[in-house]
Amino acid sequence: MGKETNIYACREHVEIAIDDFVNKKEIAPQIIKIKNEKCSYCKENAEYEIKE
Ligand SMILES: [Zn+2]
Repeated sequence: MGKETNIYACREHVEIAIDDFVNKKEIAPQIIKIKNEKCSYCKENAEYEIKE
């Protein structure tokens, strides 16, 4: 991942996504409700964007 670390997550993967973000960036992420994106971890529709 580059400088901009945006992760998309479905409900099932949101905790993993937050862990990944915190491990990489060492800051608390914003968690934003979104639609029309795919989960970064599976094929489901994402419900959350995890970003700086
Ligand atoms: Zn998922």
